[in-house]
Amino acid sequence: MLRINSRKIPMNEEIVITNSKEETAVIAEHFAKTLNRGVFLAFYGDLGAGKTTFIQGLAKGLGIEKRIISPTFIIARTYDLRSKSKETQPKTFYHIDLYRTQSKHDLLGVGLDQIIQDENNIVALEWAQKLGEMLPKKRIDVHMEYLGEDQRKIIIEKHE
Ligand code: ADP
Ligand code: MG
Repeated sequence: MLRINSRKIPMNEEIVITNSKEETAVIAEHFAKTLNRGVFLAFYGDLGAGKTTFIQGLAKGLGIEKRIISPTFIIARTYDLRSKSKETQPKTFYHIDLYRTQSKHDLLGVGLDQIIQDENNIVALEWAQKLGEMLPKKRIDVHMEYLGEDQRKIIIEKHE
């Protein structure tokens, strides 16, 4: 929370610059610990910006031991999230990449509507701008930008 002239301004944006892919992954791993169930993470940025690298760190932070590989050719991959307590609902981490999707029809084909609506899921989706009006209002945007060979800018923005 920021105060300007005694007005409180919610600070829902964080900007980080990383200098290696490991650093991006570690930041994502820490970030994962702050996430609640049902969160939708929308990733933006060109090819090579580091979206998948960030999501690999995120998955590690969520306790997923399986290696996260880019779902580019199959659109979506799912990973089980181990529940901390005796929760009955299965929890799933979805890694979705819309890079190769062409139309809204493709998106519906993935069953994206249901995946997003299920509060038991944590969803990380690359090329989120392709969702258009299907983009959930309540989400966290992660913008990634190439600054130099090993340097990236990451902007994390919460939308309630
Ligand atoms: P995207 O999913 O956005 O296409 P990837 O994560 O697949 O991007 O690829 C990012 C590439 O950039 C990888 O080859 C990675 O090693 C490299 N890289 C270099 N510096 C960084 C950094 N600071 N953060 C993330 N990736 C980096
Ligand atoms: Mg990627």
